[in-house]
This record gives sequence, structure tokens and C-alpha cells, in this order.
Amino acid sequence: MNRSRLPPAAFVDPYGRNIEEVQEFATPFIELLRDFATGSASRSPLPRYHCDLDDDLFPEEPVAQESILRQLDSMLESSMNCGSPGWMGHMNSMPNLASILGDCVAALVDNNMLAVETAPVFTALEWKLGQLFGSRFGLGTRSAGNLVAGGTIANMQGLAVARNAKLDTHKKSLAASGEIPVVLASEIAHVSVRKAAGILGLGEDGVVAVPTDSRGRMCLKELRRAVKNSQRATTKPFCIVATAGTTSVGSIDPIEGIAEIAFEYDLWLHVDAAYGGAIAFSRTHQHQLKGIERADSIVFNPHKWFNIARNCSFILFRDKRILDVYFHSALPYMRAGRIPNLSEYSMHGTQHADVVKLWLALQHIGRGGFEQLIDEAYRLTELAVNEVKVRPHLDLILTPDLNMTLFRFGDPTLPGALGNTLCDQCQRFLLDQGVFLSVQIFRGRKALRLVPLNPFTEDSDIQRVFALVDQFWSETQGK
Ligand SMILES: *Cc1c(COP(=O)(O)O)cnc(C)c1O
Repeated sequence: MNRSRLPPAAFVDPYGRNIEEVQEFATPFIELLRDFATGSASRSPLPRYHCDLDDDLFPEEPVAQESILRQLDSMLESSMNCGSPGWMGHMNSMPNLASILGDCVAALVDNNMLAVETAPVFTALEWKLGQLFGSRFGLGTRSAGNLVAGGTIANMQGLAVARNAKLDTHKKSLAASGEIPVVLASEIAHVSVRKAAGILGLGEDGVVAVPTDSRGRMCLKELRRAVKNSQRATTKPFCIVATAGTTSVGSIDPIEGIAEIAFEYDLWLHVDAAYGGAIAFSRTHQHQLKGIERADSIVFNPHKWFNIARNCSFILFRDKRILDVYFHSALPYMRAGRIPNLSEYSMHGTQHADVVKLWLALQHIGRGGFEQLIDEAYRLTELAVNEVKVRPHLDLILTPDLNMTLFRFGDPTLPGALGNTLCDQCQRFLLDQGVFLSVQIFRGRKALRLVPLNPFTEDSDIQRVFALVDQFWSETQGK
């Protein structure tokens, strides 16, 4: 082709004739990224937005490299900075190096997870890792699963298979079933459960919210009552979603008891372990997932507590044979073989090879390393919980199941609105000091939420947070 209008490093020449130009173009990028990453601790965890981009976002002619680098630098300076040890607000983990490099590999090779023909090695690898994670959760030898672009999609796929299997809606329409199907989930289940219900023809109102106890865990009595009520109301409950690690407070539903009820009423058990699934790899904490081995489907996001660069999310199923009947759409133009074309069993068609970064990180860090990251996050959480408990002016919202500490200014006589305002003000105060905590609403009241997840957050950083909280409190009291 005539490439005269393209810059010399637009592509890597497959004959290797532009190595110099490629290096010239790529090296300053790599240096910029290196400086960005190694300087994360000195920047705010959540910088104020200031991004100096050229007005012409799609110029007629190529832009000079210095200009691109300058704009990129400005972009990075204003980006969320989860590499900062002061980033403790959300479950956005800092990516490990192997997963970053894995993403480069995936982009360079650019295989398409659509089919075996377009991604032979990566398909086999993803299939094997799906089985490995499935068996780690205790799903047994028939388990199968694939990676999708996040827990939201994974929940949607889990519920789609549940609906198809329980209402026979793979080939036939939902209307033909003559049923009004409903899903039961905790009142603080992730919003994606509702979103999925809306997309799957159940309507968002098709999710029955089951009340939780004071620790944010689904009440079994309420669940049983909700199942019976929905049966009486001529709706058809077909699935229970148990959450292992709610997004707002990190609570783990009593999976074992939920599994018992699901069995009794012949309901699909879907466990949303997007965040909490990671503790299956900690010998100290895995007992909290007891009962997950009875799930029909499980969501687990390695891009959360496994520090894999986003996106990386598993949807796992107990029994591949269910997928063959209720969630399989053959690709007409691709060969079928022993290893399946993943897109035939996935929400996705063309899909990025997320498995490369996951595999690379598992190899590089090993089970012991991941276990340490989880156990240490728990240890820092214990530290934070104790810091809250020793302060009469702070109120611990609940004893956490995971690495999340929620607290607020604890004078119970404080009017709700004032307590909420203090949370917001304290959040801003902390951010000015290089610490980001999120503000969560639990049972109608705001609380500050601390999630230690960055491997470089030290004991002293946790202590510093509470020294700053004290300073904020005494300054407000003085006013
Ligand atoms: C984060 C999360 C999700 C959604 O995952 P995304 O990757 O953000 O789409 C679902 N459920 C729970 C419990 C989560 O914590």
C-alpha cells in the first residue's frame, strides 16, 4: 500500500525495517510511564481535574511527538492515582507489573478471543484457568467459565444462564413461559444485578430486595419469607444472588444457609464474589466463603483484589452441560474442536485477551504472594478498626467481613444531617493531605470508608489517617 501520509512509526514494520523509528517513538513513552509510576506516591491520590489537551482532537496531519507527550503527561497528572499509598477509598487496586506487561503482550499479539482460530493459545489457557478457578471455589470437575469485561457483564451472564435454565428461555421467549420471574438479592447487592434484570426482560422491579442485618448480611429468615411471598404473589422466583463482599460495606452473605434455601425451593444460586472471591486464596480467611461450593454460578473479578490491570472478570459455572443446552450459540463460520470457541459461551464476540495478564501475574507472583496481599490488607483493617474503637468521637459502623472500615463522627446525639456534612468535610480535609477515603451511605447515613489495598500502604499511613481525622475533629470542635 501507499503509506506516504502515515508517520514512519504508525505500525511496526513486519520486515523489521523501522526498528529505529519505533524505538525513537516508543522510548519517550516508556520513560514517561516509568516516571509517572515511580512518582505516584508524591502525587494526590485523586488529583484535581486539569487536563491541557489541544482543541483539535482529530487533526488532519500527524501531531509532533513532543505535543503528544506533553498532552499525555497532562492527562496522567489528572488521572485517578491508585498507585498512591494514600488511595484507600475504593476497591480499585493498583495493578501489578506483570499484568501491565501482560496487557502490552495482549495488545501486541492482538489475538481475538472470539474463537480458537483467532486465539488458539489464549483460548486454551482461558479455558484451563476457568476450570482452575472453578475448582478453587469448589465447583467440581464439570465447572467451566470465561473472562468478560467486568463484574457487571459477569453478573448479567450468570443471570441470563439462570433464567434460561430455569424458565427455558434460550430458544423460546420469556412471554411463552407465561411466568413473571423474579430474582432475590440482598438490599445492598450490587447495582449490576438490577441492571441485568432490566436487560434480561425481568424489569428492575424483578429483583426482590431481601433485608440485611446490622452487619449488612442477608437475613435468612427474610429470604425464606421473600421466597414464599413471591411464590404466593404468582411471580416465579428462579434465582437467589448471594453477595460475597458487598460493594458498600464488604459484608458476606451467609452463603451456606442461602444454598440450603436455594436447594429447598429449586432455585439457581448465583454468588457475586466479584470482590470477596479473592479470600478463597487466603487460608486464614477462606472459611468465610463456606457454601460457595454449592453455587451454580460465581462471579470473581481478578481486577479488584488480585491487582490485575482492568478489565479482568470471571463468570464461572458449576456444570458446562447446562451451558451447552441453555447458553450456546454456535459460530457458523468457525471450526469446532476439543477446546470451544469461547464466544459461543460468552456475552462477548470479539474480545480482548485478558487472560494473558492474569496468567503472567499468577506466574510472577504465585499463590503465596497473593495470599500475603490479602492477609496484609486484613491486618491493616484490624489496625484501622482498633484506631476507630479507641476514639470516643468515632463510631464504627460495623465489624467488617473484608478489608473495609466504615466509621463516622460518633456522637449519636449528632443530628444525621450534621454527621453527614462532617463526613464530606473530613473527606475533603484528608484529600488535601494526600489521603483518599470514600463516603458511603449505609442505612441512610453517610460514613467514611477506608479500604487498604495498595501494597505500599504501611501501618504508619493508617495511623496518620487517624491523626488527621483527630486534627479535623478538634478543628471543627473549636469553631
Ligand atoms: C465491583 C463489583 C461488581 C461490578 O464489577 P465491575 O467490574 O465494576 O463491572 C459487581 N458486584 C460486586 C459485589 C462488586 O464489588
